[in-house]
Amino acid sequence: MTNLLLIEDEPGLTLTLTDLLTTEGYQLETIADGAAGFALACDKPFAAIILDVNLPNMNGFDVCRELRARGIRTPILMLTARGQLVDKVLGLKLGADDYLTKPFEPLELLARLEALLRRAPATAIELPDTFRFGAIVINFNATEVRFHHQLVEISAREFELLRYFVQRRGLTIPRRQLLRDVWGYDEEALTRTVDVHLGALRQKLEEDAKNPRHFLTVRGLGYKFVE
Ligand code: CA
Repeated sequence: MTNLLLIEDEPGLTLTLTDLLTTEGYQLETIADGAAGFALACDKPFAAIILDVNLPNMNGFDVCRELRARGIRTPILMLTARGQLVDKVLGLKLGADDYLTKPFEPLELLARLEALLRRAPATAIELPDTFRFGAIVINFNATEVRFHHQLVEISAREFELLRYFVQRRGLTIPRRQLLRDVWGYDEEALTRTVDVHLGALRQKLEEDAKNPRHFLTVRGLGYKFVE
């Protein structure tokens, strides 16, 4: 089933679109908060995102720009306010794929959405070839990591963990989520595994592993990678 994310804070419109899209056979997650919607879009692959502009906590333009900055290429259909041409142009410039001006016919949204899904293959997250932070350069194609220009010996799991962190930089990631997504474990029993691997990454890639600057512990929650 095609799963969609709707980030929209108007309950009436959310209800209308939920009815329409589920009737059409789509699986739909809805969220009324910009920041929470952004976090969800970073965390899970969706076939497409329907994104309102005026949202609490983080507006739709920022959500769109930040997703693209993280290499997340999920097609985005923006919902703009009536007559705001500036909004439309800005939305497309920030990386939205299409826009629809409110109020719109629900069937028009359906048509635009289908066109988007036809155009875009469902490649959820693309990363640039190389990513730099501090004295570290990651080459994703070559599966190489350099620290102060020196090649670092890194296990396949550590590399996956690095890739996962870079895709979600700036976000707090609970240990159990790392276990589920990087290791494929469902249970919460082995969170120690995550700690051990984080310790190894710090030893290899931090100037001072005891005072990490990039691979941070968020007490009681998990970890966060920052550039
Ligand atoms: Ca709104």
